[in-house]
Amino acid sequence: MGWSITIGRFFGTYVRIHITFLIFLAWIGFSAYQRGGIEAAKQSVAFIVAIFTCVVLHEFGHILTARRYGVHSTQVTLLPIGGVADLDKMPQKPYQELLIAIAGPLVNIVIAAILLVVAGAVEGKTLQHIEDPSLGLVEKLAATNVFLALFNMVPAFPMDGGRVLRAALAMWLGQEKATRIAAQIGQAFALALGFFGLFYGYPLLLFIALFVYFAAAGEAQTSFVQQATHEVKVADAMETRVVSISRGATIGEAVDILLATSQESFPVVNASGGLIGLLFRDDIVEAVRGGDNNAPVAPFSHREIATISPDQTLDAALSLLAKAPAVGVVDADGRLLGLVTRQSVAEVMLIKAARPDWRFSRGGRAA
Ligand SMILES: [Zn+2]
Repeated sequence: MGWSITIGRFFGTYVRIHITFLIFLAWIGFSAYQRGGIEAAKQSVAFIVAIFTCVVLHEFGHILTARRYGVHSTQVTLLPIGGVADLDKMPQKPYQELLIAIAGPLVNIVIAAILLVVAGAVEGKTLQHIEDPSLGLVEKLAATNVFLALFNMVPAFPMDGGRVLRAALAMWLGQEKATRIAAQIGQAFALALGFFGLFYGYPLLLFIALFVYFAAAGEAQTSFVQQATHEVKVADAMETRVVSISRGATIGEAVDILLATSQESFPVVNASGGLIGLLFRDDIVEAVRGGDNNAPVAPFSHREIATISPDQTLDAALSLLAKAPAVGVVDADGRLLGLVTRQSVAEVMLIKAARPDWRFSRGGRAA
């Protein structure tokens, strides 16, 4: 994430502050200063910093629990809306996701308990120091931690409660159905929140409701695609009727092939069928701009391309497709077998949506 300042590295994870958070802090300080002078400004800023320290500890609850299950997090970023830890993947087992999700709110409960004990200890001396302004602060901080724990346990994505709910359901219903139900509950919750915000005039609630609604839909979508592609082999989903361009082809020949097919990505192959690059439609157009029809087209191709083996599952191709429009499928000797494009994935999704029980077994039939 850009516009962030790294403030340190704890337990192997970088803690970063987004620039908007600093602006938020400055704004809090300034408006407190206008109301109550420099002392009020200091207190307000100290209170916000204390809350966000608790938010970071909450995130480390997730991060350190996730690490026990082999899920790593390189950084956590502080935004005005809270902390965001980027976990590199989701754990395999539902109980692991449940423990990771619940660890954050549990940290806030523990902090609240400790603060209340501290407040209790302070209570004894209260009579002598009744004017001490730090007294209220500890209790306010404890209450805020309880609120943070409760708010995060709301059973809607992207809140932790949504993940706890999904994981708990997944133990009985499997990942796919659990995600669908959890997303529906999250959206129902968002609708209720939205109505409440609308009728009682809280525009902020309406905004949060929209956010929760789309987060739930997005979560369901991502999870469905990941689950579905994990069950399909690359060999069964790749495009095999692919026209390739030979290494020695001219720009004129490449244009002919572009016009004759509906392809947008063309493998460039050598004499023995080895994949040496990819040529995309834009590259051919770029080559045409140069002028000479008889010049070789190969220099316009991409040489550093992602390849994948036909035995891998389609979800492995998904992350590669985020960076390029096509992934080459090659055998052990680097010979071209086919292409995986975003369209290949979209078609698998269409078939899956129409017939969830469909067996993708082109490789099986061919054998
Ligand atoms: Zn959390």
